[in-house]
Amino acid sequence: MNPSLRGPLLAKAKRVVVKVGTRLLTHEKGGFAPDQLQHVVDQILELRAEGREVVLVTSGAVGVGMGILGHATKPKQLAEKQACAAVGQIRLIHAYDEAFSRAGVGVAQYLLTAEDFRDPERFGNIRRTTEALLRHGVVPIVNENDVVGTAEIKVGDNDRLSADVCHFLEADVLVILSDIDGLFTANPKTDPAATLIPIVAKVTPEIAALAGGEGSIASTGGMITKILAAQTVTESGSACVIANGFTASLSQILAGSSVGTLFLPCGQKLGSRKRWIRFVSTPKGKVVLDDGAVAALTQRRVSLLPAGIRKVVGSFAAGTVVEMTTLRGRAVARGVTNFSAAELTHIAGHPSGEFSELLGRSVPQEAVHRDNLFLL
Ligand code: GLU
Repeated sequence: MNPSLRGPLLAKAKRVVVKVGTRLLTHEKGGFAPDQLQHVVDQILELRAEGREVVLVTSGAVGVGMGILGHATKPKQLAEKQACAAVGQIRLIHAYDEAFSRAGVGVAQYLLTAEDFRDPERFGNIRRTTEALLRHGVVPIVNENDVVGTAEIKVGDNDRLSADVCHFLEADVLVILSDIDGLFTANPKTDPAATLIPIVAKVTPEIAALAGGEGSIASTGGMITKILAAQTVTESGSACVIANGFTASLSQILAGSSVGTLFLPCGQKLGSRKRWIRFVSTPKGKVVLDDGAVAALTQRRVSLLPAGIRKVVGSFAAGTVVEMTTLRGRAVARGVTNFSAAELTHIAGHPSGEFSELLGRSVPQEAVHRDNLFLL
């Protein structure tokens, strides 16, 4: 891409998700840094003054809590980490509230888990609540609900969380601010020849391989979680910028200045439902398709009919997300099924004219309607 197009792409972004990493809100040796938080807030206020809507995803609860509870390094024990998050979160949100209210701007607090995103109803509720708050001019401030987080229900890191927020919001751009300048050709901390990559057209395995593990004493993610977040949002048609929050300002980034790494949107912008099916939901079962059905889905972009289903794997209710695979097990699509696993097993391979008799009621013709289907 011609670098001069960077400006127009970012300048027209109306809806922005800003993710702020722990390092930006704490001192290098740990402990809350309120001045740095004020700096973040000032920049968000600037974006709002430019007419943009901003949702903030903030880390820092554990990092701030470590300072309060006297931990020099991140505690290993889960309960202790969660205790840090609980005391840190309240200090953090209080500081945000004070800083924004000095400018007459209200804030709202969200503490979410992966389960809240995976459930379509909760996902929809979060989206509608956010729309309402944005209409009121409030800045929603999102963090993971670390206190209840166990492996199964955790989003895990706030890079992923910020991508999920970008999905329900159908945001134009996700800006991930941390203490590194962007994506480099090699790890800049160990390789002096490493150079910053200004623009990434597509997150390929080669690009993902450039992300070495790193992080500070209180941070969770590294470059790889940022790249994965960039991948899901760009594949949904949003842009993503990874930049250094100490040296670059949000206004500068959104004016299209050559700072950080810009990940270009690939493909058309998807609505939140398609994004949910593709990137947020967890498939609960699998249907194995015959070759004809695979060809129809991938080449003609039609709905999946039960006639093309060879096998149903797992137990699921109507309305859940299933994965569609080839006979050899390669995943080709994901979508919301109109039937339960038991019903699908019953009608698999049959033409639609027989469904009412087989199931004893009138039902849709499609196993998965194409509006609820996403090709992988
Ligand atoms: N939720 C964690 C916190 O507030 C941060 C997780 C992350 O930075 O990825 O400390």
